[in-house]
Amino acid sequence: MSHRLTIKEALTQAADLLTDSDSSLLDSEVLLAHVLKKTRSYFRAWPEKVLTPNELKAFQHLIEQRKTGQPIAYLTGEREFWSRSFNVSPDVLIPRPDTELLIDIVQENFSPDQAFSILDLGTGSGIIAITLALEFKNATVTAVDISEKALSMAKKNARQHKADHIQFILSSWFKNIPKNRFDLIISNPPYISPNDQHLREGDVRFEPNSALIAQDNGLDDFKKIITKASVFLNPKGTILLEHGFQQGAIVKNLLESSGFVQIRHYQDIQGHVRATLGKKP
Ligand code: GLN
Repeated sequence: MSHRLTIKEALTQAADLLTDSDSSLLDSEVLLAHVLKKTRSYFRAWPEKVLTPNELKAFQHLIEQRKTGQPIAYLTGEREFWSRSFNVSPDVLIPRPDTELLIDIVQENFSPDQAFSILDLGTGSGIIAITLALEFKNATVTAVDISEKALSMAKKNARQHKADHIQFILSSWFKNIPKNRFDLIISNPPYISPNDQHLREGDVRFEPNSALIAQDNGLDDFKKIITKASVFLNPKGTILLEHGFQQGAIVKNLLESSGFVQIRHYQDIQGHVRATLGKKP
């Protein structure tokens, strides 16, 4: 590549290189915006601006990494969730828009000023715990993860968003949770079967297996969570789980077998059942 390129030229050249991406120009723009610390609209205003050699070098380095399949979110170190930016790294799952469904459901079931206690199991980057802490000012939030690195990322995100009152606990599911009783247990646990071929495609190849994969056909962690959840819930407490689009019926069965009632499925915008809620009697 030549040393003096305009924004427009650099973007075109980069997009041509990213032959495996189905959003090659967008990817290039997001990565250049990251290097220049600008928004993408800047490129529309200043397409002829010449990049400095350092800017170009940094950009080309990111494009090379993107070409190997590295997720955009790991290259820029951030991803938006519920209109807030969260820090991410390969130690945590990349926030998915799908998971915003869980926030919608909590808003449907709890009022904004309600004082209630929430336990987020497998918090990862902290998106669920932090979003709920910010949207429900009177809620007390506890967030758990088995990964120390994930927890420190979640704490960093909590500080950045001034979600000061979240209690973070290093724990494998309920193991280190004091026998508190919660009003809501919420989780987006690993639920992909180890032999699911999607694990060999796209961003998931670079994400932590521990956040994606569950033994027993993707059900192992649901079983661990659901069988113990009752002990940690107040009477009439709620459990809410994200799951794969074909797991609704089995998650319902597991909840029923553990004594949960008033079970409800929720669909994502594509009409897939992606979350299931149950209540302790
Ligand atoms: N929904 C994610 C995916 O299918 C997986 C998230 C999870 O396992 N909790 O890529």
